[in-house]
Amino acid sequence: MTAPGGPLRYRPHHFLCSLGFQGKGYSPEFTANMTAIVLGRLRAPRGDATEITVIAALDDICAPCPKRRGSACASQEQIDRLDQAHASALSLRPGDRLTWGEAKARIRRSVPAGSLATLCAGCQWEPYGLCEAALSALHRDSA
Ligand code: SF4
Repeated sequence: MTAPGGPLRYRPHHFLCSLGFQGKGYSPEFTANMTAIVLGRLRAPRGDATEITVIAALDDICAPCPKRRGSACASQEQIDRLDQAHASALSLRPGDRLTWGEAKARIRRSVPAGSLATLCAGCQWEPYGLCEAALSALHRDSA
């Protein structure tokens, strides 16, 4: 678990999940943790300066997830697929360190609006459209 105020540790697909997060999750504990990270740090004043280290494993979002099985996931194949797709789209490699502001700029440059149906294929949250709406808003706000 990340030290308070220290760099977050994110697997590749959690950058876009954090952009789209709207307070929904897999359990009350999962949602409380993600709320603390996303609302309490990334979307807080000066949140764009938050540093994030890319890792290829269980991260700060996964920690209290009810689908976690030790250091793996009950849906590991799907998670691996999402990580590979998002790492490729955002040019992320394990060990990279970037700020949340840089991550959003990279999303703007590399992930066009309308692409999550493909990029996030198989994710249970994708059909709700919340992440796609957040992606569209990111592009609109920076136009
Ligand atoms: S659709 Fe799923 S994988 Fe894609 S950004 Fe949203 S929560 Fe993350």
